[in-house]
Amino acid sequence: MFQLSAIELQQLARRVKDDIDSACVKIYTEDHRSHLGASIIGDECGRKIWYVFRWAKFQIFEGRMLRLFNRGHREEEKCIQYLKAIGFTVWTVDENTGEQFRIHGAQGHYGGSADSVGLTPFKELDNKPILLEFKTHNRGSFSHLIKNGLILGKPQHYAQMCSYGAKFGFSYGMYYAVGKDDDDIYIEFVFLDPRHADDLSRKAEGIIYSQTAPPKISLQSSYYECKFCAMNGICHFHEPMEKNCRSCRNARPVDNAEWFCDRWQNIIPKDFIPTGCDQYYQIGE
Ligand code: SF4
Ligand code: SF4
Repeated sequence: MFQLSAIELQQLARRVKDDIDSACVKIYTEDHRSHLGASIIGDECGRKIWYVFRWAKFQIFEGRMLRLFNRGHREEEKCIQYLKAIGFTVWTVDENTGEQFRIHGAQGHYGGSADSVGLTPFKELDNKPILLEFKTHNRGSFSHLIKNGLILGKPQHYAQMCSYGAKFGFSYGMYYAVGKDDDDIYIEFVFLDPRHADDLSRKAEGIIYSQTAPPKISLQSSYYECKFCAMNGICHFHEPMEKNCRSCRNARPVDNAEWFCDRWQNIIPKDFIPTGCDQYYQIGE
């Protein structure tokens, strides 16, 4: 009977892992987002958000990271199951439209979808619906959250929640965090500040309609936020942006989530935006 060597068996195992990683890149890799998402508007660096919105660089992740992100999406189903088990009513879509709870702004260039809406069994909340936000965290992020609370520990997530709260008229939200390392959970109820939502909405409009890059958060490329920023090379070292209409200085966002080209004096067809033309000129600082 033929028997494979230990090395050959290891090579097969390695091949399975590598093939799954490649398959995950194909399955989960998405294109640039067409709109500026409420999920990133709370980021400390407006310049980074602007680069993302202007399609300056598409961040490519390896298979492991993409599985990790997907784990976050899948976790939501479990969280809802547990909430229902303790008496919550949970909606993942708007019963009136049959669609996700979405927000829109800045002529369709700003938006996002809330995770869920819930009704708690607690009389203190006056039988009013609240926003539900589910997030998974690694060990460091989970400890940081517990120590500092949502507003200080994860301001980006709180910003996202306030934006949805203002749109749907919810005063409160419940943040449901899951620690991926040990399945511990952390729950926090927060007031969704409508003034914060207004500020964020203004911030989004400022970024969307800016034809130049907002200021850097730091002039040092080694600054903590910059060190881990995918835009570091473009921002600090003048690396070229990806060529497409959105990173061209002739393009500007207009109504109905469309883009107008000042060079050709026309709305740019959606399928043309990723390519651009030979009159491309990279948008400036
Ligand atoms: S490198 Fe720093 S300053 Fe530049 S976009 Fe990223 S976080 Fe902002
Ligand atoms: S000049 Fe060309 S690349 Fe630039 S926005 Fe117009 S069509 Fe796009």
